[in-house]
Amino acid sequence: MTKTDRVQFLKYKILLNEIQKQIAIQEEMHYKHMKCRNGCDLCCIDFNIFPVEFYFILNELKKKNIEPEIGQDSPNEICVFLKNSSCTIYQQRPIMCRTHGLPLVYANDNGEFELSACEFNFTDFDFDGFTQENTLPQDKYNSKLFLLNRKFIAGFQDKKYGELDLIPLKELRRHLLKT
Ligand code: SF4
Repeated sequence: MTKTDRVQFLKYKILLNEIQKQIAIQEEMHYKHMKCRNGCDLCCIDFNIFPVEFYFILNELKKKNIEPEIGQDSPNEICVFLKNSSCTIYQQRPIMCRTHGLPLVYANDNGEFELSACEFNFTDFDFDGFTQENTLPQDKYNSKLFLLNRKFIAGFQDKKYGELDLIPLKELRRHLLKT
């Protein structure tokens, strides 16, 4: 890992902390509705993540000698880190996983704002009651991650990536198994 990689990882960590704070605020705001718990794994599919996040997580797992239980690749795209309905890389999970279950606002392909909120959590919540204050702005964080990733891939020596390249989580499994 180069010094440039380390700088970008540090910036990723700062961004992660910023997002984590907003997540904590939203979780507190919606605690009455949140039913996310161990055993509910409906969100745990094989997500694609930016290289900066992918290599940050890989580095953290190796640095801390974390050996997650890793399942098999599955045709129905269940995340390989899901074991007995629990995440085996919970502390190191990607940003997207940290927002599971919360109300997210994002722009769709037509440029219209859409809201995504877990129907198992917000069973008795009036969806018209969602506002800028009680939702997470997914695009804002994705934009920050995109810009950070752009700097990361520009200096990354091990492999070349394009700005829009994403890596499936299951690739982490391949990297971990070969080390
Ligand atoms: S990394 Fe963990 S939280 Fe994220 S999809 Fe996989 S099992 Fe679920």
